[in-house]
Amino acid sequence: MERGVHLKNLLIMKFGGTSMGSAERMRVAADIIAGQKKLRPLTVVVSAMSKVTDLLLETLRRAEVGDKSAVTAGVAALRARHLEASEQLLGKSAAAAQDVEALVNEFQRIANGILMLGERPPRSVDEAIAIGERLSATLLARFLQASGIKALAVNGGEVIVTDAVFGNASPQMEATRQKCIAKLAPAIEEGIVPVVTGFNGATADGRPTTLGRGGSDFSASILAAVLDAQELWIWTDVDGIMTADPRLVKDVAVLDEVTYAEAAELAYNGAKVLHPRTLAPLVEKQIPVWSKNSFALDKPGTKIVSSFDEPKGARAVTSMSDVALVSMEPANAVLSGTRLMARALDALALANVEILVLTSSSYRQTFCFLIRKHDVTSAMEALESNLSIELAHGYLRPIEVDGNVGLLAVVGEGMRGTPGLAGRVFTAISRENTNIIAIAQGSSELTIGIIVRLDMLDKAVRAVHEECQLGKIAAVAEPRA
Ligand code: ASP
Ligand code: MG
Repeated sequence: MERGVHLKNLLIMKFGGTSMGSAERMRVAADIIAGQKKLRPLTVVVSAMSKVTDLLLETLRRAEVGDKSAVTAGVAALRARHLEASEQLLGKSAAAAQDVEALVNEFQRIANGILMLGERPPRSVDEAIAIGERLSATLLARFLQASGIKALAVNGGEVIVTDAVFGNASPQMEATRQKCIAKLAPAIEEGIVPVVTGFNGATADGRPTTLGRGGSDFSASILAAVLDAQELWIWTDVDGIMTADPRLVKDVAVLDEVTYAEAAELAYNGAKVLHPRTLAPLVEKQIPVWSKNSFALDKPGTKIVSSFDEPKGARAVTSMSDVALVSMEPANAVLSGTRLMARALDALALANVEILVLTSSSYRQTFCFLIRKHDVTSAMEALESNLSIELAHGYLRPIEVDGNVGLLAVVGEGMRGTPGLAGRVFTAISRENTNIIAIAQGSSELTIGIIVRLDMLDKAVRAVHEECQLGKIAAVAEPRA
C-alpha cells in the first residue's frame, strides 16, 4: 500500500518545556490533544518539563568534576519534580511512579559512571539528557490513557535516525521515514496518539544522539516531513513570532504570517521562538507550521507559509549578544586575502564553528566574521594551528577577537528591492549615537545584519523597530521600487 494513505490530514503537535512544565500544563496539553483528536489523526512531540534539560546537564557537569553531593541533589530534584507531576496527574498510580523511578535510575546510573570516570563522553551525555523527554512523554501518554485517549509513549531514538554528531546530530531522512512508517504509522492508523520524545534520535547502529538545545522543534518537523503531515503546530508560551523581543521593545506586535525563509532567518539571528533548523525539512513539501501559545488558546498564533502574494517589507528585528567578532588581516602582499579567507573558512568548517556574519573590505583584504561566544576557543585553536606558519612569519597580523559586540538583524522578504530601507535603518541607529562596526546584507536582501557595540545593542533594536514601524503591522508594507 502507498505509504501515508491513511495518514491524510495528520496533525503533528509539539509541546515545549513550559507547555509541559507542570501537571496543570500537561492537563491543558491533554485538552488540546483531545480537541484535535476528534478532528484528525495526531502525533504529539514533547520537550522535557521546563528547566529539566538544564538540570540534567548541570548534574552531569558536576559529576565530571567529582561533586558527589551535587549529583545526589540533582537526581533527587529530578525524581521529586516528576513524582509530583505524576501524582497530581495520575494519583497514586504505581505504574506511573515505577516508570519515573526507572528513568531516574537510568539517569543516575549514567551520572555515577561519569562521576567515577571523571569524564563526560558526549554519547553518554546524549543518552542521559534525553531522559528528560522520556519522563515527560511517559507522564503525558499515561495521563492521556487515563483520560480515555489511546496514547503511546515513543522514544525518539527509535524513530529518528541521525548521524553520529553527538550533541548536535542531523537526521537521515530516508532511514527516519522508514522507521516512522514502521513504528508510528500503524499506531496512528489504529487511532492511537504517539507521544514522541523530542530532542533525541539514534544513529543507524543504535547509539543515542540529540539534535542540539531546543531540538524538539526540529524533531517535530522531521516527523512532519517524513509522515507527510498536513500541518505542524508548535505550542509555546508566547503568542507567536513577534516583531522584536518583547523584553527589549514595548510595542511589539505578533506577526500573523511569515514565510519559511523569514522565520528561519529570525531563528538563526536570535529569535528564541523556533529552533533554527526546524523549517528546513518542511520547505520541500510546503507543510504549514503554526506557532501557538498554550497559555492563551484564544490567540491565533503565527502561521509560517512558503510565500506571500504581496511583499510585506521589513517584518522583524532580532538581536544576539553572546557573540564575538574575529578580525584577520594579512600583514603584507605575500599572503593574498582570498587565500587567507579560504584557509580560515576551511579551518572553521573543520572545527564545526558556524559563521553568523562575514564581511570583508578594502584592497588590503582584511575580513571579519561573527561567531558564537562559546565557539571562540575552538575557532581560535583551529585558526591559529591552521595558520601557524603565517602567524609566526608575520604574514598575518595577530588574530583579533572582540567579545564586546552584538548583532542586530532586520528581516523581511519584502525588503528586496526596497530602496532607502538600509539607509533608514543605518540612520535610525546612528541617531542613537551608535557606531556601526560591520554590516552584512546578502544578495537575497532577506536580512540586513548590523554589528554594534554590545552596550548599544538594545537601543539600536528599539530604534530600528521604531523607524520601520514594525509594531504597526499594517504600516510596514513598503512601496516597491
Ligand atoms: N529539552 C531540550 C532543551 O531544552 C529540547 C527542547 O526543549 O526543545 O534543549
Ligand atoms: Mg524550545
